[in-house]
Amino acid sequence: MLRCVVTGGAGFLGSHLCERLLTQGHEVLCVDDFSTGDRRNIAHLEHSPRFHVMDHDVTQAYFAPADRLYNLACPASPIHYQRDPIKTVVTNVEGTLNGLRLAKRTGARFLQASTSEVYGDPTVHPQPESYTGNVNPIGPRACYDEGKRCAETLCFDFHRQAGVQIRVARIFNTYGPRMAVEDGRVVSNFIVQALRGEDLTVYGTGSQTRSFCFVDDLVGGLMSLMEHPTHTGPINLGNPGEFTVLELAEKCIRLTGAKVNVVRRPMPADDPKQRRPDIDRARAVLGFEPRIALDVGLDRTVGYFRRELGL
Ligand code: NAD
Ligand code: UDP
Repeated sequence: MLRCVVTGGAGFLGSHLCERLLTQGHEVLCVDDFSTGDRRNIAHLEHSPRFHVMDHDVTQAYFAPADRLYNLACPASPIHYQRDPIKTVVTNVEGTLNGLRLAKRTGARFLQASTSEVYGDPTVHPQPESYTGNVNPIGPRACYDEGKRCAETLCFDFHRQAGVQIRVARIFNTYGPRMAVEDGRVVSNFIVQALRGEDLTVYGTGSQTRSFCFVDDLVGGLMSLMEHPTHTGPINLGNPGEFTVLELAEKCIRLTGAKVNVVRRPMPADDPKQRRPDIDRARAVLGFEPRIALDVGLDRTVGYFRRELGL
């Protein structure tokens, strides 16, 4: 049994991770300030004597005995992370720093939930880990992108300078049950809009692409990386299937059976035009292979949102 700390454990990805770690018999401490997470995401875990919750903002120092620290605390939806961009930078930098200090004190292995956003609006496609990215350091997404890039820097400096065992996962767009109804990301927006009988808001022409990974596949990849004996990463985790936003809208309309159309909205600044992970490294090092096809994952997510909306 490992003592696992999961920061951001009450969020979308974090709650699934806590659940899987508990299922494997580990002890789990969820550290979360509930800013974008929801206590309901972890309510079903709270009966377990091996599950603990610390209501805490990771930008303030904290301590817990630990063998593993998964650092997920950070708003992930553009709407959320742009609401208080200074706090987003501080969460990425101070929050990661506090986690790494805890790892140094306890000897815990530290996994950073990094992101495909470190590649910015990529000029290399698909994106391999060797690509150093095309990020606008002063745009509205920079608080998140540059914050996550600095967090990676901190990880590697703690590794080289202080011998902390690090694992850096670059997570590509992930979706599934427990995304918040008001999350603002494309999959939850489209499904919720369709289920409410509203037209789907497509930003720009809808020709921009993303690769969507179902949460169960992603969480498996995070845990495999954490338990790899030596590999620090960075390592891309995601599903390499690539779809335009318009194709996603059509799928959501078809799977919900909604009688709705798409409406155009302005393209947000610095919105990446294309994104697809090169997962050769994850395949080779971790045996990582996403199994859930987009239609199957979307169907499960539609079921979740139907229940959430009381339909
Ligand atoms: P989420 O918003 O559902 O979860 C984030 C969690 O962190 C929430 O529970 C929130 O309350 C908590 N949190 C935020 N700031 C905090 C702070 N200062 N102190 C303590 N807790 C704090 O988002 P998610 O999709 O579950 O993302 C989790 C992590 O994975 C994030 O670090 C995100 O950057 C990363 N990630 C996610 C995706 C994705 O597609 N879901 C892609 C790339 C990276
Ligand atoms: N998007 C959209 N309509 C929405 C929400 C998002 O067309 O209601 C687009 C957005 O402009 C982007 C893509 O969908 O091109 C993915 O957006 P999301 O916010 O999910 O994630 P990210 O941009 O961080 O990949």
